[in-house]
Amino acid sequence: MLLSSSLLVAARSPRIRQLVTTFPATRKLVDRFVAGEATADALTTTRSLVDDGLTVTLDHLGEDTTDVAAAAATRDAYRTLLATLADAGLAARAEVSLKLSALGQALPVDGQRIALEHAVAICQAAAAVGTTVTVDMEDHTTVDATLATVSQLRAEFPWVGAVLQSCLKRTLGDCADLAGAGSRVRLVKGAYAEPASVAYQDKHAVDQAYVHCMHTLFAGSGYPMIATHDPRMLAIAGTLASTYDRPSDSFEYQMLYGIRVAEQRALADAGNRIRVYVPYGADWYGYFMRRLAERPANLGFFLRSLVSR
Ligand code: FAD
Repeated sequence: MLLSSSLLVAARSPRIRQLVTTFPATRKLVDRFVAGEATADALTTTRSLVDDGLTVTLDHLGEDTTDVAAAAATRDAYRTLLATLADAGLAARAEVSLKLSALGQALPVDGQRIALEHAVAICQAAAAVGTTVTVDMEDHTTVDATLATVSQLRAEFPWVGAVLQSCLKRTLGDCADLAGAGSRVRLVKGAYAEPASVAYQDKHAVDQAYVHCMHTLFAGSGYPMIATHDPRMLAIAGTLASTYDRPSDSFEYQMLYGIRVAEQRALADAGNRIRVYVPYGADWYGYFMRRLAERPANLGFFLRSLVSR
């Protein structure tokens, strides 16, 4: 727990970022979680997953942008990606996931408006090629602003997906609010270090909240996106789908690229919808550190690869 929270603090430290990103041995482990740096890499990975019967959501890596030009560049990267997916005939099987902080949400002047405008531009590009967008959820300080943006986007693009984190005490209420017809909701446990005032600190409580949230989403009339690698949560999701008479096309499972790959294929082979979250791009540091924090064994693997050089 202490190790995980230290890694999550390190995920936002420029000094440690410099150290980790310039270390040559880092690359090997990054490649396990990240599809590559270029749009072409994202495309190759998408094609191979789609050929295996999976669907994909692509994340152009980046977050916490403090620069207006960088926010616009992220918007443009998504537009290029969507056009490339369409040209390759993959848009029906691959959507995009975006972080509002990469689109300018944290800019000191007009951040919320700028992020919304960029998100609208990306949704327009997604609509033009027949696919969808999901808005990732970041730390708890951004939840109200992000849900407000999702609601604004949904007025024009009702298929925009929201993400809710079971670690936050508020989330069961948010699930109830977002469980209506057509509402795409990705349920996750939450990847950020959050204070006890707003978030459960105990893994058991986070898991219990995840189950309660699944109940609410499956009982509702929306489209739950069960994003977890946890075998217990996956088993309970299967049971709830039967309890609430959910046909297999009325919800989906989601997992991260490179994590429990055999389980991803097994779920697809059993007739379930399964979507793989594929991150790509040069700005992989924050994403990578959160994956290390989730599983200390990853850190051990990383440290061993440094020592064995
Ligand atoms: P855990 O209890 O953490 O893990 C269960 C088991 O899964 C572990 O025992 C292990 O076998 C395996 N596992 C989990 N993580 C790893 C790992 N890093 N490396 C290797 N094995 C692992 N979080 C957000 O805060 N906002 C988001 O928008 C968001 N989007 C996500 C999208 C998808 C598709 C997924 C799958 C996760 C997303 N997350 C997001 C991350 C999420 O919040 C969790 O941090 C992450 O999924 C780990 O939790 P878990 O449910 O897999 O359960």
